[in-house]
This record gives sequence, C-alpha cells and structure tokens, in this order.
Amino acid sequence: CLPSLYRGRFAPSPTGPLHFGSLVAAVGSYLEAKTRGGEWRVRMEDLDRPRVAPGAAEAILRALEAFGFEWDAEVVYQSRRQDAYHAALHLLEARGALYACACSRREIADSALRGIEGPVYPGTCRRGVARSRRPRALRVRTHPEPVAFDDAIQGFVEQRLERDVGDFVVYRADHSYAYQLAVVVDDALQGITDVVRGADLLASTPRQIHLQRLLGLPTPRYAHLPVAVNAAGEKLSKQTRAAPVDATRGPALLVAALAFLGQCPPAALARADVGTVWQWARSHWRLERVPRKPAAPAYMGTGSP
Ligand code: GLU
Repeated sequence: CLPSLYRGRFAPSPTGPLHFGSLVAAVGSYLEAKTRGGEWRVRMEDLDRPRVAPGAAEAILRALEAFGFEWDAEVVYQSRRQDAYHAALHLLEARGALYACACSRREIADSALRGIEGPVYPGTCRRGVARSRRPRALRVRTHPEPVAFDDAIQGFVEQRLERDVGDFVVYRADHSYAYQLAVVVDDALQGITDVVRGADLLASTPRQIHLQRLLGLPTPRYAHLPVAVNAAGEKLSKQTRAAPVDATRGPALLVAALAFLGQCPPAALARADVGTVWQWARSHWRLERVPRKPAAPAYMGTGSP
C-alpha cells in the first residue's frame, strides 16, 4: 500500500497527568492529521528521567483513550531508543559538528549574552576543553547564518542560532540525550511529515532544523498552536500546577479545546457524547481558524469550561 502523505504525532512528556494545555496539542494535531486523511502517532518523551512521574505515561494513554483518540502504530517510548540517539551523536561527531563542554550552568549564566531563551553559550569550549577541566556535556556547533521556516499558524520565523541561542547541548551532563536531539531523530525515524504542537516550542524549531540539516534528515512542516495559559499568564504545566483533565467530562473538555483553537463549536455539543463531538470536529476543523495567540486564559479544570 502507498505510504501516507501526512503523518502527524502527539509527543507528551510524562511529567504528570494530561492537562488542558496538552489536550489542546493532542486535539489540534489529531484533527489536522485526520482531516487530511493522514496517520497520527503517539510518542512518550520520557528521556528526562528526573522529571518523569511514575505512572504518568500510562495515565496519559488511558486519558487519551477515554477522550476517544485513536493512534496508528505502537506508542514509541524515547527511553527505549538510546541506540538511535547514540548513532545520531556519532554522525554529528563525524561531521565535525560536536564538541565536549566543561562549563557549568553557573559559568554560562555569569558570562553570557542574553538570547531568546536565556543566556547564549559564549563558545568557551569550542576549541577544546582545558586539561584541568572535566568535560560534562556535548554541544553542537551553530553558525551565524539565519535558519528560517514558514509556520502554518505563526507565520515566518527566523533565528540566527549562533547569536540567538549559541551552540546548544545535545548530550547532557546527567548522561541523557537532550530533547532537541531526540525529537529530531524520532520525527525522522517515525516518518513524521507534519508537526503540530504548542507555540512554547516555536523557538526550539530552528535548532531542530539545524540538527536535521546536519544529520541529513528531512524537515517536516510545522504548525505551532497557541499555548494555553492560566489567569496569571503562565503556561499550563506541572510546574504551574495545571489541573489534570477529568476524562469523565470528555465532551465538555473537548468542546473547550475546540473553542480555544478557534473552531467555534456550538455550546450544546458539550452535552453530546464523545463520538458526536469528534464527528462535529472532523467535519468542521479548519487550521486557518486557529488563532496565533490565545484569546483568553484557558480553562483550568475547575468549575465549568
Ligand atoms: N514533549 C514535548 C512537550 O510535552 C513536546 C515535544 C514536541 O511536540 O516536539 O512539551
């Protein structure tokens, strides 16, 4: 059979149960894949061991099931894919793009310029680690030329990685592979053609494109959804104590997610069953209606949406 022309994915980090922000990313990526006749995969991004919560991956999958999501193929767990990341590091090394770094977080914060996401690495170890110092992490070289892409929702995005981010870590001091590397390897190995995810990752995308180019991997299309924030303007996450979504209130929460994504679902749909909500959503979904920024603080999981 012919390979699917569209393959999307949802890639939660199992640091806690599914909350409204991750539900929004699941709904957006799912509907875009399904309405284009594509496949939708689920990948557990459980590499960051200290942050992974026991039982969270299972709880997220059960919640997705209760909301009526259906995924194609087995769920991929990043924690089981060390060999693939290891091979990618070797390739970066062979291309001369990798170097060991002995700098501590503190040293970088003290010395560096400010970039788009905090301090820019000043390149201290670019020409080698001093004998007296112990290498801690591996960084990938960046360059001064712009890396740009057209986001289907956020529009044209451009960064000069060397100036805006600096050489970034792909293998961490705690001996784990960095998110930026793993996501690029997995999107390619899973044949993902389209990445639909929260705009909190918009600033990571040029780094991912840089890695794709170094590794000779294709660049998927990107669409970054508005990020659900609470009344204080903080992104919903475990750190900001976002309430877990209550899967027994499936229709109401799906309708809230569709409203957040600009799809204007009829209010009465919240009292229908999950199957009816999905039917409505599949026949009405339009990516063009998704706003770039959230219109209002998101539903937080307390009271009515
Ligand atoms: N695991 C990431 C998160 O939950 C998402 C990664 C991605 O979609 O690329 O924030």
